[in-house]
Amino acid sequence: MKTHMNIPVFIPHLGCGHSCAFCSQRSVTNVMAAPSPESVAFSIKEALRTKGDKKAEIAFFGGSFTGIPRKDQEAYLLAAKPFLLSGEAEGIRLSTRPDYIDEETVSFLKAHGVKTVELGAQSMSDDVLEKSRRGHTAADTRRAARLIIEGGLTLGLQMMTGLPLSTPEKEAETAREFVRLGAKEARIYPLAVFYATPLYAEMLSGRFVPPTAEESVDRVADALAILEEGGIKVLRIGLMETQTLSSCIAGGAYHPAMGEMARARLWRNRLEKALSGLWGDVTVFCEEKLISSVLGHKRDNFRFLSEKYPVRLSLAHTEKGVYLLQNEIRKEILI
Ligand code: SF4
Repeated sequence: MKTHMNIPVFIPHLGCGHSCAFCSQRSVTNVMAAPSPESVAFSIKEALRTKGDKKAEIAFFGGSFTGIPRKDQEAYLLAAKPFLLSGEAEGIRLSTRPDYIDEETVSFLKAHGVKTVELGAQSMSDDVLEKSRRGHTAADTRRAARLIIEGGLTLGLQMMTGLPLSTPEKEAETAREFVRLGAKEARIYPLAVFYATPLYAEMLSGRFVPPTAEESVDRVADALAILEEGGIKVLRIGLMETQTLSSCIAGGAYHPAMGEMARARLWRNRLEKALSGLWGDVTVFCEEKLISSVLGHKRDNFRFLSEKYPVRLSLAHTEKGVYLLQNEIRKEILI
């Protein structure tokens, strides 16, 4: 199977007339000005040089694509079009806000080669959205999700953990609703508080205490389990590291290894459930690609479980899946 390659094109803050309490788009993307269509075409061409036999997709991220004037959207999409026609890229994806999607927009995007639309849903709880000054409701996300799927595009949804008024239960419910809405892909962003944002002021005054990275790992792991068990592919956990990112963050849950930490916690939780009723020597059979998540960083998961339960854990390889074996007792872990 061909591996996948995204060609990211960042359009910071372009098209966004909002100011969410947590947002610092320019810090996140490390790009200050919107690129011209010509420079977009040039950077796609450059990126394709390293494509090899990978499947390439052009990805407009960082702003609210469908909020920019239609003629500018068209200019960007036309800049990408020659690479679709030549077969060098297989499609276009973009991110936008739920309230910037309507039926006509979906048709326009589809006609210009867009295959996937990612919505910044962030939460499916209206009180959380309002407190974060998102300027849209959960109903907007439901409506946009339906239009995207009915229009024949793939739906991606993005959620955040740790926002003001949010709780682990609300985040789990957001993940469950993503499954019900028919999303095929998701991203999870634990809250990082950037300097010079409204949330930073709240944090400084002590009115808001964001969850730390360690506190966020459990919340992210729970959402991840719901999404993946619901058939959604989780493309990213946590903000992408850039040269300047950590210097822009004042608090919250940013950690460059958040994805690995959350996956390891998810597996610790799964192992813990499966260990119930077992004792003594237990072998964890595990397929190759899951070993680091199952063991955890420096075998943390095995250490934690061996201290908490009367078991001695060892690892063995298997072709596919994960299961536990104690003498004759075999417990499959469904993924
Ligand atoms: S909608 Fe997106 S780009 Fe606009 S302020 Fe909110 S987070 Fe930032």
